[in-house]
Amino acid sequence: MIILFFFLAHWFLSLFSQTFFLHRYASHKMFKMNIFWERFFYTLTFLAQGSSFLNPRAYAILHRMHHAYSDTEKDPHSPHFVKDVWGMMIQTKNIYLNYAKYNIEPEEQFRDRYPSWPIIDRIGDSWITRMLFIGFYVWFYATFATQWWMFLLLPIHFLMGPLHGAIVNWCGHKYGYSNHDNDDHSKNSLPLDFLMLGELFQNNHHKKPNSPNFASRWFEFDPTYPVMKVLHWLHIIRIRKV
Ligand SMILES: [Zn+2]
Ligand SMILES: [Zn+2]
Repeated sequence: MIILFFFLAHWFLSLFSQTFFLHRYASHKMFKMNIFWERFFYTLTFLAQGSSFLNPRAYAILHRMHHAYSDTEKDPHSPHFVKDVWGMMIQTKNIYLNYAKYNIEPEEQFRDRYPSWPIIDRIGDSWITRMLFIGFYVWFYATFATQWWMFLLLPIHFLMGPLHGAIVNWCGHKYGYSNHDNDDHSKNSLPLDFLMLGELFQNNHHKKPNSPNFASRWFEFDPTYPVMKVLHWLHIIRIRKV
């Protein structure tokens, strides 16, 4: 029971950080917030993604490339130009590292503002930090697991951030239905996207990349959108008008 709770808490906190902070804020600037809240959510992303923390700048650059070149050869992670999901993850990782390590400069059009906090980026990207988080996950399971098979969940904790990215990038451009012709392979994979917090409405999202609500038809529901509305109402964020 404790393990299930820990797994779900890590899954949804990490995913929320990705969709709310890295995707909707850092990449698309769907809303504004002051420096205090920006750093609050930056820290939350670091703690929630833990051993697989993704640098917001590199994430934003890759994601802007993805929108500009969706399902073409210049897309950093289209499932239509790779052999399998592992090939896609490795290709994404290599392109990501180029920007995270400042090996190459992004194209002009992807340099728009993104949140930056170099000290957290450095701590989050260090092997010591990653190993400390992994040590914590293993300790937690060693202390609270009651069945041997529970340990099979550990690799998911280690790679939570990239794993969520891979599920969205693979399934969201391969399986499901389309509401719009976006001239790519983007799909809506789940009519009620509780498991991925709205991220699997790729077809709707590619049609209207700046819309804060990823759902568009009556039977679709994006669970992150009401959270954003509450944060807007509390004056923590200001959702941009589209
Ligand atoms: Zn996409
Ligand atoms: Zn996007």
